[in-house]
Amino acid sequence: PGKKVLIVYAHQEPKSFNGSLLKIAVEELTKQGCRVTVSDLYAMQFEPRATRNDIVGHLHNSEEFNYATETWEAYKRGGLSKDLVEEQKKVQEADLLIFQFPLFWFSMPAILKGWMDRVLVQGFAYDLSKSYDGGLLQDKLSLFSFTTGGTKEKYATRGDVRYLLWPMQHGIMHFCGVKVLEPHVCYAPKHVSEEKRKEMLTAWTQRLKTIWKEEPINCSPEWYFK
Ligand code: FAD
Ligand code: ZN
Repeated sequence: PGKKVLIVYAHQEPKSFNGSLLKIAVEELTKQGCRVTVSDLYAMQFEPRATRNDIVGHLHNSEEFNYATETWEAYKRGGLSKDLVEEQKKVQEADLLIFQFPLFWFSMPAILKGWMDRVLVQGFAYDLSKSYDGGLLQDKLSLFSFTTGGTKEKYATRGDVRYLLWPMQHGIMHFCGVKVLEPHVCYAPKHVSEEKRKEMLTAWTQRLKTIWKEEPINCSPEWYFK
C-alpha cells in the first residue's frame, strides 16, 4: 500500500486485449492502495520522434545538432519540453514501471520506443559512468507486460521471447539502473478460445496480487541466452 505505479500503455483500442490488461492492472493495484498513473500514449498523441523540438530555448550547438548532447544540456538547465518533463516526473515518483503493449516486430510499438528515446535522457536516467547497476533510476522496478500474435508453441520452437527482451530489459531498464521483474506474456490472445482469454486475464490479476513480494530477475546475459 502507498506504492506508486506508472503504467506506460501503448494500444490504440480500449476494447483490445491490451486494454483489458491495463484495466485489470489499474483496478487491482488501486484496490491494494497503490497510487496508479497511466500514460496512455496513443490517447495522449505522444510524440515519438526525437527532434530539436524537445529543447526549449537556445541550443548548446546550433551549428551541428546532436540529440543526446542537446537533451543532456537542456535537462541540466531545465530546458526540456513540457511533455518530457511531465513524463520524467511520473518516472521519478514511481516505484514500479509497467509497460503494457502488443509485440510489434519482435519489439515494442514505435510510440513506446519513442517514449524510451525521449524520456530517458542523459542526466536524468543515466550519466557518464552512471549506468547499469549505477544507473540513476535506482530503487525502481520495471515489468514488461505484452501480448503476441504468435502462439506459445511457436515461440518455444522458433526462438524464446527472452531473446527479444535483451534490448528492452537489459539495454534500456538495467542500463538506467531499474530492476527488472519477470516479464508477463499473453500469447496469441486473438487465436485462443474465449475461455483461455479469461484465464489469461485472471492470471494477470493473480500475479499482481503478490507483485510486491517478487524478486527481480538476474538481468545478465545468462538469463537471456543461456
Ligand atoms: P486484440 O486483437 O485486441 O484481442 C484479441 C481478442 O481478445 C479480441 O477478440 C478482443 O475482443 C478480445 N478481448 C479483449 N478484451 C477481452 C476480455 N476482457 N475478455 C475476453 N476477450 C477479450 N506478433 C508477434 O508475435 N510477433 C511480432 O513480431 C509481431 N509484430 C507485429 C507488428 C505489427 C506492426 C502489428 C500490427 C502486429 C504484430 N504482431 C506480432 C501481432 C500483435 O502482437 C498482436 O496482434 C497483439 O499482440 C494482440 O494484442 P491486442 O491487444 O491487439 O489483441
Ligand atoms: Zn541486465
